[in-house]
This record gives sequence, structure tokens and C-alpha cells, in this order.
Amino acid sequence: MLVIENLHARIGDEDILKGLSLTVKPGEVHAIMGPNGSGKSTLGHVLSGRPGYEVTAGTITYNGEDVLALETEERARQGIFLAFQYPVEIPGVSNMEFLKASVDILREHRGEEALDAVTFMKRAREACTLANLDHSFLKRGVNEGFSGGEKKRNELLQMMLLEPSLAILDETDSGLDIDALQVVAEGVNNMRNDTRSFVLVTHYQRLLNFIKPDYVHVLADGRIVRSGDASLALHLEEHGYAWLDDEVA
Ligand code: ADP
Ligand code: MG
Ligand code: MG
Repeated sequence: MLVIENLHARIGDEDILKGLSLTVKPGEVHAIMGPNGSGKSTLGHVLSGRPGYEVTAGTITYNGEDVLALETEERARQGIFLAFQYPVEIPGVSNMEFLKASVDILREHRGEEALDAVTFMKRAREACTLANLDHSFLKRGVNEGFSGGEKKRNELLQMMLLEPSLAILDETDSGLDIDALQVVAEGVNNMRNDTRSFVLVTHYQRLLNFIKPDYVHVLADGRIVRSGDASLALHLEEHGYAWLDDEVA
């Protein structure tokens, strides 16, 4: 469903992604690990169409469509969900309004009927409970004054309501205590099915104790230099990234 081929991307005149290829099939969970500054967040930003990133070569297709030709909003309508390392605050727009508007747009795109306010509220409250967020978070401005852990759990809330077909989570585990980590992992695990795929960007193996990935990739210097199964993450935890330097070179 997601096919990235030989992707090259730059910020300003600096090349960050240098020939990245990755294929994610329906229902698969891929973990992307790698040293700081290797381009993991850049990959997420390029996938989302964030301004400031120039793709100089390569292709990204999703369900056969050229993702790079689509606006950010259109990518979201296609079922791609991105949760960022640093979620944005939208003061003055309540979480509830934001989620309702987003869900309305997605349902319309999928040819589904709009949810009435009562049904939506019920789903939103259930999702809050699953995300271990008090229902009062629905009334607050999007991420406004949320702690790090609350922002991460709010992303989980968004994901549960938006029901994406491809979810890309960038360091969704960073800054989480073990309880919050388990909440997020459980949320992801509950959403796993035969058609929904996940790309989990993570610095640490810890998250993968709770979410078993089908594949683990190492991103170093803008390319995927090694792919394997979950055992690769354990190997990295033990040996770090230094042993891959030869391959990067
Ligand atoms: P990772 O998420 O793997 O830690 P990033 O994708 O955030 O890495 O960053 C990759 C590289 O791109 C780093 O060297 C970083 O300094 C550089 N970079 C990121 N954002 C910018 C920017 N806005 N301007 C210039 N360089 C940037
Ligand atoms: Mg980083
Ligand atoms: Mg990053």
C-alpha cells in the first residue's frame, strides 16, 4: 500500500534523505529506529507534505496514488495519519470541535454518513477512556497546555477516532512513563487489523516490548541500512548503532 522508492529530500541546501526505500503492506507494523539526526522525523514530515522539505528524487505512492502530488489535507483524506514528535497546539479550537470536523471530513470522503452529535460524543468519550484521558480534555484547546504525556495520549485519541488506514507515529513513546507507554501501546494493538498499517519511529526498543513489529528498519544517514524482524531491535538495544557504521560508509 505504501511504497517509497529511492527517496531523496533536502532542507534548504542540505540533503537529509539519501535514497530511502520502504514498502509497507496492509496490516503490517514497521518500526524505524536509528541514531539521532538520521532523518526519521524528516521522513514523517515529507510524508505529511510539510513545507520546507524539497523532494529531489524518488517516489512515494499510497494505494497506487502519487502522494507527493497531493496536498497535506488530501493525504489525510486518503487515510494517512501522522502523529508528530512535537504535536502542535491550537489554542481557541476545542479538541472536540477539531475531532468532529476531522471525522466529518474523513467520513464524507469514505462515502459514510456523518455521525450525529450524540453518537460522536459517545465515541469520543469512549476513546478518551481508552486513552486514559479525562473527558474534560475534549473541551480544552487542542494540546493547549497539555503535558508531554497528555499530548501523546491525545494523539492516540485522535487516531482512535479518525481510524486511519496508515498511521505514522514519530517517537510517540518519548517522554512517556511506563504506564502511559502501555496505554499508547494497548491503543495501537487494539487498532491493529488486517488492513491498517503502522510505521512507528522510535529511538528505543522499549516500545517494541509492547507493540510487536513485523519488521524493524535502521535509518542511518538518510537511508535504510538494515532491515530485520523484531530481534533486530533487541540487537540494537544491546549493541547500539556503531556496528552499522561500515554499512553506512
Ligand atoms: P531524527 O528524527 O532521525 O533525529 P531529523 O529528521 O529530525 O532526525 O533530522 C535529520 C537532519 O536534518 C539533522 O541533521 C537535522 O539537524 C537536520 N534538520 C532537521 N530540520 C532541519 C531544519 N529545519 N533546517 C536544517 N536542518 C534540519
Ligand atoms: Mg531526533
Ligand atoms: Mg526525530
